[in-house]
Amino acid sequence: MGYVFPPQNTVTLPVAGSEDRLPVRRILCVGRNYAAHAREMGKDPDRDLPFFFSKPTDAVVMDNETVAYPAETANFHYEAELVVAIGKEGRDISMESSLEHVWGYAVGNDLTRRDLQLAAREQGRPWDMGKAFDRSAPVGPIHPVSTVGHLSTGEIKLTVNGEVKQQADLSELIWSVPEIISILSSFIELKPGDLIMTGTPAGVGAMVPGDVCVVSIDGLGQITTIIGAAE
Ligand code: MN
Repeated sequence: MGYVFPPQNTVTLPVAGSEDRLPVRRILCVGRNYAAHAREMGKDPDRDLPFFFSKPTDAVVMDNETVAYPAETANFHYEAELVVAIGKEGRDISMESSLEHVWGYAVGNDLTRRDLQLAAREQGRPWDMGKAFDRSAPVGPIHPVSTVGHLSTGEIKLTVNGEVKQQADLSELIWSVPEIISILSSFIELKPGDLIMTGTPAGVGAMVPGDVCVVSIDGLGQITTIIGAAE
């Protein structure tokens, strides 16, 4: 048996302070998980169950890489997010045991074609072309829980060309990391290498070619993404 063409390489992320790398399985994302961001998107923040969408694994972009301004959009947005890396499989995970499934944390940026996402939302269509496009998921090195512990507070901040655009605290998450893991695992079995992007604070906005976007979270460092010319 041979492959009819070469299989896709495994996507991996660096582990902070180590030569090891974390293999990425899936990228799962939480929608509207900060109240002020829900409001700026024209929705009332509430405690209805969170909703989820996903990005393909090979949408991952490393720190300091250039992302070409994507095709088919005129409103390309940044979204600073805390990323949770799952290290232990499980389904129907209880809130009490959910943190045992976390291997580490990272800084992420949920790049979004906002015009396409909102058009899809209004028409009741899937978000994929607004959210799950090529190179839509810059993620920084994974910081192991064994080093940084679990994060429930701490500043999350995003700048574009040095100007602060988003600034909030992880304690403002509507659904906490343990709650997200528990709820998500009632729908799907979580497995090692699954990444969860936990939602963005208020202040989302557009970028243009030449912009330099930096996302930072207390304890996790920062990641830089450069926006290149249109693809
Ligand atoms: Mn997001």
